[in-house]
Amino acid sequence: MEETEVAVIGAGLAGAEAAWQLARRGVRVLLYEMRPERTTPAHTTGDFAELVCSNSLRSDDPANAAGLLKAEMEKLDSLILAAARATAVPAGGALAVDRVRFSAVVAERLLAQPRVRVRRAEVTALPPGPAVIATGPLTSEPLAAALRELTGREALYFFDAVAPIVTRDSVDPERTFRAARYGRGDGDYLNCPLSEEEYDRFYEALLTAETAPVRGFETKAVFEGCMPIEVMARRGRRTMAFGPLKPVGLTDPRTGGRPYAVVQLRQENQSGTLLNMVGFQTHLRHGEQGRVFRLIPGLERAEFVRYGVMHRNTYVNGPAVLNPDFSFRARPDLFLAGQITGVEGYIESAASGLMTALSLLRRLRGGPALIFPAETALGGLAAHVTASPSPDYQPMNVNFGLLPPAARVSGGRREKNRALTARALKALDDFIRRHDLD
Ligand SMILES: Cc1cc2nc3c(=O)[nH]c(=O)nc-3n(C[C@H](O)[C@H](O)[C@H](O)COP(=O)(O)OP(=O)(O)OC[C@H]3O[C@@H](n4cnc5c(N)ncnc54)[C@H](O)[C@@H]3O)c2cc1C
Repeated sequence: MEETEVAVIGAGLAGAEAAWQLARRGVRVLLYEMRPERTTPAHTTGDFAELVCSNSLRSDDPANAAGLLKAEMEKLDSLILAAARATAVPAGGALAVDRVRFSAVVAERLLAQPRVRVRRAEVTALPPGPAVIATGPLTSEPLAAALRELTGREALYFFDAVAPIVTRDSVDPERTFRAARYGRGDGDYLNCPLSEEEYDRFYEALLTAETAPVRGFETKAVFEGCMPIEVMARRGRRTMAFGPLKPVGLTDPRTGGRPYAVVQLRQENQSGTLLNMVGFQTHLRHGEQGRVFRLIPGLERAEFVRYGVMHRNTYVNGPAVLNPDFSFRARPDLFLAGQITGVEGYIESAASGLMTALSLLRRLRGGPALIFPAETALGGLAAHVTASPSPDYQPMNVNFGLLPPAARVSGGRREKNRALTARALKALDDFIRRHDLD
């Protein structure tokens, strides 16, 4: 094991975690980081694992999917989680950190590993393997170009224009109906019909809703390529009703007539637990999305597992270009980790780094690919990245909809989530034991 040195490119959340996991399991690592010499539009320091925006790693409650993911990562001795615990600040039920100390602890623990060497340099071409690319949503241009060449232009995206995703359970079945336009398909969409009055109320709320601040690196081209719903609304009262909300080919079975407008929800995952709001890419603040989109009939109690976002985000079409162990089909000695695989979020990126490192380790040891159990949050994210069936692959936060549904549990959503958590942690314990991953 000692003779192989793995290059890890990028010392962000994913790269730092991957380097740690490899080194502590006996692999030598050469960790590249281009900052501070060459920076990104969002980073401001030369620190490892810099948190570019919020200092929160979200919920710490294991009955919440982000909390479950943390619990799972801790079972696998995650560096990012250990550093977060060591530098936590009070934040209610969330795990928030002192970001400066957090980065310092990550660096300190990583550099204390005798098997880790660090090179402060930008990598501009695909390295020889074995290597992990973990250069994040703001991967520098030369490396992004090399990745585009490897994956094909159409499999590497440069920005997110993401529509919100809601859980199917939270959509009111009494106010919605299943159908595809002109009766095509098998009732593939869940439709939320709006009367003229309901449409007007929604339209007015959209016009006055607050948008998120625009960052310097977000280009106008983003908005021209994929128009946010609120921008469309500003073009005229009826524009949405002629666009994504057009009612043509749809009959509301309750009235027997065509609604004034229709919001369509499309299945997002194989088990059908998640629904995507078709055409609702948006730049509204998260709170505003909840407030305004819940005015849509059927969505009054919608649970948003992902809000819409628009920002620069380099990521590959994982299901089209990656093997189940996160290596490239076109270059199996090259592995990918972090947000660039199509996970979304600090903790998800670190989790991705952890899984990629264990997969690479498995490859070095000559075993079959490690497939994380479907019941775990880690497995749910892995399946999204390498096997999502969505024709419109987009980054995803961890959520319970990525896991197979639980057997019947009495009680509300919280009880159901607790059952999913217990099942996940048990599956992970078995997996760790079976694969000797302690
Ligand atoms: C503006 C912005 C705000 C965000 N806010 C949040 C938030 O509040 N909460 C949240 O959970 N998620 C947020 N995210 C999403 C995401 O979780 C973070 O971007 C996260 O840091 C991703 O982790 P990563 O390891 O994949 O990438 P990063 O943490 O970005 O790490 C990648 C590293 O690679 C380095 N690098 C890039 N190119 C090269 C190269 N060619 N050679 C060498 N090094 C290179 C970079 O300098 C960087 O250190 C945000 C993303 C963006 C862009």
